[in-house]
Amino acid sequence: MREKRVAVKAAKKVVSQHLKKHGRPTTSGNYKINVNKVAKDLGVTVVEHDFSDDMSGVFVREGDSLFIGVNENHPPTRKRFTIAHEIGHFLLHAEDVIHHDNFDLESPSVVLYRSEGINSSAEVEANAFAAELLMPEQMIDECIEEGKTSIEGLAKAFNVSIDAMRYRLINLNYL
Ligand SMILES: [Zn+2]
Repeated sequence: MREKRVAVKAAKKVVSQHLKKHGRPTTSGNYKINVNKVAKDLGVTVVEHDFSDDMSGVFVREGDSLFIGVNENHPPTRKRFTIAHEIGHFLLHAEDVIHHDNFDLESPSVVLYRSEGINSSAEVEANAFAAELLMPEQMIDECIEEGKTSIEGLAKAFNVSIDAMRYRLINLNYL
């Protein structure tokens, strides 16, 4: 669990740097973190690619060049989660040269099942990172204090899938 805390801490740092640089995404009701900008600021190039459906994303380190490949056929919320997850691998798992994610990163049950035996702790960390990056705890708290309490409303405000938001609210002890 220590590693998960490290992952969350890394994400909080990235969020705070991002908000400092670009300001808060505050047209009211909009809490969407721009993951493409986050990647760009970290020197990572995001490329959309026509992967097969079971392939969510890939992280590639080529000398000094860093790439995230994301499946262009997936829905926007899923692409955002994939990019956030791959940024997590980039920041947390420096030893990885090429990292493939052949599963639906947004559905934790699938991730835990599919990644068993591969390197599930790295996947748990990358997902904890992605959750905090896309749905920062502090912003969720604020939203809920402001009275936005439906899972659908929160999912829309943060531009994530309803499943991802439900899982996040469970982890934050709201559900
Ligand atoms: Zn992964």
